[in-house]
Amino acid sequence: MQILITNDDGVTHPGLLALTREMRQLGEVTVLAPDRNWSASGHAKTLDRPMRVRETRLADGFPAWMSDGGPSDCVALAMLGLFKHPFDLVVSGINPNANVGHDVTYSGTVTAAMEAAISDVRGFAVSLDRPGELPISETDFGPAARAARRVVAAALAHELPKNAILSINVPYLPDDQIRGVRVTRMGTRIYNDALDSREDPRGRPYYWIGGASPTGLAEDGTDYGALVEGYVSVTPLELDLTDYALHRTLQEWNLA
Ligand code: MN
Repeated sequence: MQILITNDDGVTHPGLLALTREMRQLGEVTVLAPDRNWSASGHAKTLDRPMRVRETRLADGFPAWMSDGGPSDCVALAMLGLFKHPFDLVVSGINPNANVGHDVTYSGTVTAAMEAAISDVRGFAVSLDRPGELPISETDFGPAARAARRVVAAALAHELPKNAILSINVPYLPDDQIRGVRVTRMGTRIYNDALDSREDPRGRPYYWIGGASPTGLAEDGTDYGALVEGYVSVTPLELDLTDYALHRTLQEWNLA
């Protein structure tokens, strides 16, 4: 079992270390992750410059590789033969924030898993619903890493199709307080973004997208709803974004 680990927070992130330690129990692990933070970079593809790949080590000494490309670039490099062998699955994370609802369209964690699916390799994205005020240095990624290992192992035992994408979100709870696993659909995120306009020293305006952290609708059957109730959320995703209901409607219109 050949497993590729990546993330969108950078190769030194403790979430990647925790995930790597658990995944090493399931097979041969190769780590290739960005050398910096690419969170919310979406499904990026670097085409206008060369990419470098350098050897490094994780905090526990485990050998790893880092690239100046993004998360989906790292997956593409590995899928295209950088390591001279194929992979059975790609696991991305652990992202230190949940990726629920529309987050999946922004998330480098999730788009890394999507990149795997494009190459017909199973992709798993693992995200932790950490309280926003909790410093990363004080965050325990252990329960989420163990939950991810159990879900990945179960999915493989059930012969998860090769191009499947599973987005796993874990509530921030100790192992014995996680209530179980729910298979979910994408829910509704509520963004509280606000435009922050400022002026540079030369009087020219510049902008930040600021505002409070997103919340969501805690609906039954959704990713966000499962997290709120203390369950691990497992959402199967696919890359077909077609709106089939609207497709039928449009066919009845005379668009010409
Ligand atoms: Mn991230």
